[in-house]
Parts: sequence; structure tokens; C-alpha cells
Amino acid sequence: MTLKNILPIHQVDVAIDKEELLLIKECIDKKWLTEGEKTKVLAKKITSFTGYKYVTFAPNGTLALYLSLLALDLKKGDEVIVPDFTFYASATSCIFAGLKPVFVDVCPKTFTLDSRHLEEAISEKTKAIMPVHMYGQSCDMDPILALAKKYNLKVIEDAAQAFGVKYKGQHVGALGNIGMFSFFSDKVITMGEGAVIVTNDDHLFKKLSFLRNQGRQHSGTFIHPELGMNFRITDLQAAVALSQLGKFPDILEARLRLCHLYHSLLKDVGDICFLHNPAYSNWVPFRFCITTGHKEALGAHLKENYVQTRSFFYPLHKQPKLKGYRKLYCKTTEALYEKGLCLPVHCSITEEDVHRICSLIKEFFLDRKM
Ligand SMILES: *Cc1c(COP(=O)(O)O)cnc(C)c1O
Repeated sequence: MTLKNILPIHQVDVAIDKEELLLIKECIDKKWLTEGEKTKVLAKKITSFTGYKYVTFAPNGTLALYLSLLALDLKKGDEVIVPDFTFYASATSCIFAGLKPVFVDVCPKTFTLDSRHLEEAISEKTKAIMPVHMYGQSCDMDPILALAKKYNLKVIEDAAQAFGVKYKGQHVGALGNIGMFSFFSDKVITMGEGAVIVTNDDHLFKKLSFLRNQGRQHSGTFIHPELGMNFRITDLQAAVALSQLGKFPDILEARLRLCHLYHSLLKDVGDICFLHNPAYSNWVPFRFCITTGHKEALGAHLKENYVQTRSFFYPLHKQPKLKGYRKLYCKTTEALYEKGLCLPVHCSITEEDVHRICSLIKEFFLDRKM
């Protein structure tokens, strides 16, 4: 193969085409841009897809977490338990809502909240737990829900990466009180920017409705019984999401096929370990994750060969602006950052690409006699 034939393999790509354009065109033809018919249809479809009673939207996942925390009516300074291994927004949404994140380590096999440390982390001030369903798999929810019940804590699920993910057969999101899915451009399905909030709780949903729509339940009235802001989306976004929702089964099947191929080609290669797939969760692969003691060198080798990798999350307790918050253990999150590498899995990756990437990885370890 000459260099010219090697196309770069990017870390993420979006499965977007004429189908999205067709639905966007319908909005433009109707001249209806803000929340309208498309948003309503999307809510209905997501309601039946997830099985939750209430579905509403926010402009992005970060604001969906913030809005959900506001709806929970916690007091200023209350603590929320957050895994140390997650995207920054899980913690900053708490801080902007006047709450304090407490960082707890994750399980080294599944990268989700380690319930062995959870009870020890609970203080008088702790009022909520935020499990994060990482990389397209569910947390082990039963121990988390049991502790929440025992200590009277709210559970808000960061399911940003977990649309389509089920825990023991039930869609994640509001196994606790409330939760969200992000439809950001690099998630498994997207609406550009945007997020879905789900709950089964009548009272929470009512609070959400007021908070997200200027303190009223319906637009067009100028008496506002409550305080509220604007967290609405547009029908243009909903049009994209509707089209993406239709593609979800195919997207999932293709991603699973690629991930199973990665598994079979990389098992027993060097010191590579995989994300464990626990029996209580299905898998909607968000990234293909490996860990190795040679993360930096392997990443550089792949980059030289036009394959873009991505590192794991940097431990939240080490983030420059999050150092002052309480934390427990967190050794696993440090190790994961040292060792973790995401390999590309998305709509433009072919099985041939996976073979090429895995050959490069084997070559890397052979050179090191591993
Ligand atoms: C993407 C993501 C978010 C934030 O969602 P946005 O839509 O990008 O604001 C929050 N938490 C996790 C775990 C995420 O992966």
C-alpha cells in the first residue's frame, strides 16, 4: 500500500445524510422552527422506546443535568456523589446548581461507580447520587438504588452515553428519580446539540416543565406562576433526532459487529485488556476501549499511521478547578487515565479498517517482543 492510499481514520464521525435533510426541509416548508410538531413526535417515540412516563428536552446534556438537579429541589451546599471517572459536565452541573460533588472511585472492570465505596462516601450533607452509565453500558444499579433508599437520597442518572442501554432489561435513565441522554454530535445518535430528560415522577416533570419554559407550562401566556428560564430546543434539532432514531438499530448493529471484531483480533495481544461486559447490561458501544501500560507509545504509533485515538477521562478530583471537593480513593480512575485508549468505532469504519488498526497494534507489540 502506498501512503497515498491510506485514508486517515478519525476518532468520531456522524451518520448523517439526506434523510435528516428531508425532515429539516419539512420544518422549513412549514416555517415552524422552535419546539412544535417534530418535538412532540420525538417525545412520543422516545417515550415508547424507553418506557418512561415523561420525556422532555434540553439544549444539551450539560444543561439537562443542570435542569434536572434544579428540579430535584436540593439545598445549597448539599452533596452529590459523582464518579471520579466521567466527563467534566457531571461535576460542573452540580456546582452551577449550588451543590457539591463528592468524587468516588469506579470499578476497574466496568468503569462505573464502585458500590463497595459508596456507603463510606455518604455524609450528613449527601442528598443525591449521580451514577454515570459509561461507554454505553449500565452501572450496577441495584446496590446504588438500595443505598439511596436506605439514606433517602435522590438518584439522577447521567446516561449521556447510554441511549439504548438497559439494566436487567429496563432502559436506564430514570431507574432512580430522573436522568438524561445527550444527543451531542459524537454520541451514538445525535441532534447536533441537544438532550433528552426522562422521569416517571409527576411532581418532577411538572417542575421541569415550568423551569424549562419561563415559569409557565404553555408558551403564549404572559402570566408566569413560577420562576423559570429557557431550556427549549428547536424543531430542526428534533427533525435530526427523529431521523437518527430511525437509524438507531442499524447503527447499533454495525457498531457491535466492529467491536466484536476488535475483541477477536486483539485478545491475547500484548498487555491489552478490554472493558468488561457485565451480564446485567446490554452494550451500545460508544467507544471501543482498551487499556495498556503502553498507552502513550501505542497512541503515537497509531497516529503516525493515520489512526486517531482518544484518551480516557482525566480524574475529576485532579481537574484544576475541582481539587477542593471531597473524594474517596480514586486510584482506579488515575490508573484508567494512565492506561486507557479509545479506538475508533463509528459509521464510516469498515471491517477492513478494524483489521488495519489491529495489525498496527500487533506490529507495535511484536516490536516490543510482547
Ligand atoms: C457528553 C456527555 C455529557 C454532556 O453532554 P453535552 O450534550 O455534550 O452537553 C455529560 N456527561 C457525559 C458522561 C457525557 O459523555
